[in-house]
Amino acid sequence: MTEKTPMMRQYMSIKEKHKDSVLFFRMGDFYEMFRSDAEDVSRLLNLTLTKRHGIPMCGIPYHAAQNYIGRLLNAGRKIAICEQISLPKKGIAVRDVVEIITPGTVVDESFLDKKSNNYLAAIGKVSKVMTFSYVDLSTGEFMAASCSDNHPQEFIRKELSRLGPREILIQESLFDEAYFRSLSNKSGLVLNRIPDWLFDTDSSYRQLTEQFQVANLKGFGFQADDPAIAAAGVLLEYLKDTARHYLTHLGGLKKYSEDLYVSLDDATQKNLELIRNMDDGSSSFTLLNVLDETSTSMGARKMRQWILNPLRSKTGIDARLEAVSILYKNQILLSEIRSVMSHILDMERLSSRIGLDKAHAKDLLSLKDSLKKVFEIEKILEKAEGFSPICTPVMKTTLQNMADQLEEAIMEDPSILLTEGRIIRKGYDSSLDELRELKNNSRAVLDDYLNSIKEETGITNLKLKYNKIIGYFLEISKLQSDLVPDHFIRRQSLVGAERYTTSRLGDLESGINSASEKIVELEKSLFIAIREKLKPEIPVIQELCNKLSELDCYSSLAYTATIRGYVRPQIRDDKSLLIEGGRHPVVEAHLPPGEFIPNSLHMDDKTSTFALITGPNMAGKSTFLRQTALIVLMAQIGSYIPADQAVIGTVDRIFCRVGASDNLARGESTFLVEMNETAHILRNAGERSLVIMDEIGRGTSTNDGLSIAWSIAEYLLEDIRSKTLFATHYHELTNLEHDSLMNLSLSVQETGDDIVFLKKIKEGPANNSYGIHVASLAGLPEEVVSRARQILESMELHKQNSTLIIPETQPVQQQDLFSSDEIVLDQLKSVNIDNMTPLEALNILHSLQENL
Ligand code: ADP
Repeated sequence: MTEKTPMMRQYMSIKEKHKDSVLFFRMGDFYEMFRSDAEDVSRLLNLTLTKRHGIPMCGIPYHAAQNYIGRLLNAGRKIAICEQISLPKKGIAVRDVVEIITPGTVVDESFLDKKSNNYLAAIGKVSKVMTFSYVDLSTGEFMAASCSDNHPQEFIRKELSRLGPREILIQESLFDEAYFRSLSNKSGLVLNRIPDWLFDTDSSYRQLTEQFQVANLKGFGFQADDPAIAAAGVLLEYLKDTARHYLTHLGGLKKYSEDLYVSLDDATQKNLELIRNMDDGSSSFTLLNVLDETSTSMGARKMRQWILNPLRSKTGIDARLEAVSILYKNQILLSEIRSVMSHILDMERLSSRIGLDKAHAKDLLSLKDSLKKVFEIEKILEKAEGFSPICTPVMKTTLQNMADQLEEAIMEDPSILLTEGRIIRKGYDSSLDELRELKNNSRAVLDDYLNSIKEETGITNLKLKYNKIIGYFLEISKLQSDLVPDHFIRRQSLVGAERYTTSRLGDLESGINSASEKIVELEKSLFIAIREKLKPEIPVIQELCNKLSELDCYSSLAYTATIRGYVRPQIRDDKSLLIEGGRHPVVEAHLPPGEFIPNSLHMDDKTSTFALITGPNMAGKSTFLRQTALIVLMAQIGSYIPADQAVIGTVDRIFCRVGASDNLARGESTFLVEMNETAHILRNAGERSLVIMDEIGRGTSTNDGLSIAWSIAEYLLEDIRSKTLFATHYHELTNLEHDSLMNLSLSVQETGDDIVFLKKIKEGPANNSYGIHVASLAGLPEEVVSRARQILESMELHKQNSTLIIPETQPVQQQDLFSSDEIVLDQLKSVNIDNMTPLEALNILHSLQENL
């Protein structure tokens, strides 16, 4: 194929329209890719790149496409599927793009993570206001917000780290690839440029009212000129272009306000190891891992959302805590709900599949089975005090009807294909039953007919036979041929017999022959009709799923509280933070029971707001800092907490920074990153925020680091006045004086040259750095340790001096690491006697003796 062939011309004209996607060009049983697509894909997927007439190409078999598509999506590619629409008698196949699959719009279960949402977001600016919207096509969640305050960038940064979208639509004039990539931790993130004029409130308004078939958007909480709808309209347009389906399951657009949630930026999420750990990025050793005891995928997704979006309002938090506490106090109720809940499937994603015409019969059966379990849960809740039912009466009727209809219509263990029948239950449709009767009992049907003809005509030796040439026929011996009625049609004449057919026999025959085909066709159309009928009810299913997943989260939290011994925190709308016997939920979970040492923190509303925490490395500072942040965060999720008791004043933001973390991969120096992040806190933290600073300033030289740490501490104390926990190894900082500052340290017990970390917080500063002890414990050679002691002593002596005088190295008496006995023993053990001559053995014995 050269540039000039009709096929290549066709390819190029289609590719021209889909420049930003990999074009899967269907040729027979293969999807072929050409030119730069082929080069890109062959590299990503490790496929062989070939060349024909100088054009690079590679191909994949169409039936194995799923796997390749999944991998391309993970690598952040969009894929345009171009199929052969028809094969004319002359010329090449007619081809067109039938679907564009993108990371943010996939709905196929095999490309999605069950336990997390798959978001597509849009960002733009209309008349100086940021407009932001996001959607999860696989669940139907569709939200929009706007932000006009002074920090629109902050708003975007916060939303992106909260949601972690896989794909973002960005207004052309705001497009800054490096910036947006730096905000996200997603590796295969897709960024799309959208022309400015598409962010238009008027046209979006029209699009949205049309989509939801409403006269206006007041019911969803939007005025016609609300800037938030501009981004929502852009999303909708994009979905129509890519998913190419009428998006029935997008039940409605919800308005939200960013100040509902505690903001947790990317670094904070990472440092607190909320959903991913810092070692391998998996969810083990994370808060999510400890808290998530949900029974359904819907619940698991919600739990993840809750952890990343703690509530700000005391009322909201108390309502959740109340629900958890009812379940916590009624363990029988809790275990009943959890056991039924575990049978409920992902109805949220099922309903989206219905909306996108992708649901098969087993999906609908699962929906029915899950609905039945919901009714069981409703019965359980009826008996329980303090819980209102999940469904309103109207919802209940709708869902009950839905379950009944599906029960009636879909057979047990149906086929998942529409092309082989075995979907619809007997008794649902009389013509289908007749067809099936015909197919299954064709012999009996023919026998019945034969008997009725015999009776009617009195021809006793009438036979019904079949051959390939004339099909079914009636055979009569010539002797009885005068009894043949007029409506018999003669087909063949043999020596002793005549062969006839009748119009009824003809009907029966074609009926039998085409029954199978008709059955498949009829089952298909009945199934599609059932699925269509479900579409208008998708919003009801979505509402149900929302309620169910909340219940799942309450149960999960109550269960975790039970098995881990958590207590209900008291929530206050002030600045207090009083934790008695607090524990780190994740560290504790991985230690044998009772081994975690609890610690308390008392910051009351008025006085202390700033805790300066000193102590040697390994004393437990980081753990204490993080556990405090995690306890506050858990409380604001509505969870019980790992403590003996606690009063938690709600916070609006949590920041957690760790000095000198390994960020070199991004090409910035560690220290610059550390300072960037610190600057971000100082600009954004407020009086009601919780700031956790762990060893800030560590990334630079001592004097620099100390002065920076010092001035940051002062700024937080005096200007921001946030609740702050500040851990440092700069002992000098304990000289800071302020009414709101308290000095805390971690106790260390010294026994001779050894030290034991008690992991216990005490009031007052630490009195020594202990670094050298730790170095020695860690196994540094003794000479290095003693040299360090010398340097330290000398520095202490010259403290008053502005210049640092490092003493000359004093010779340290060399000590052997092992005693001579140990060496001899070791050598003896390693001797291989079997391979040795007596003389060699004698020599070795001699040298061993010398060594002693
Ligand atoms: P630092 O920040 O002071 O260097 P870390 O907080 O990293 O110390 O703690 C050092 C080690 O001690 C970690 O392995 C941690 O799991 C453990 N640890 C810390 N605090 C406690 C505690 N309260 N109870 C039990 N183990 C703890």
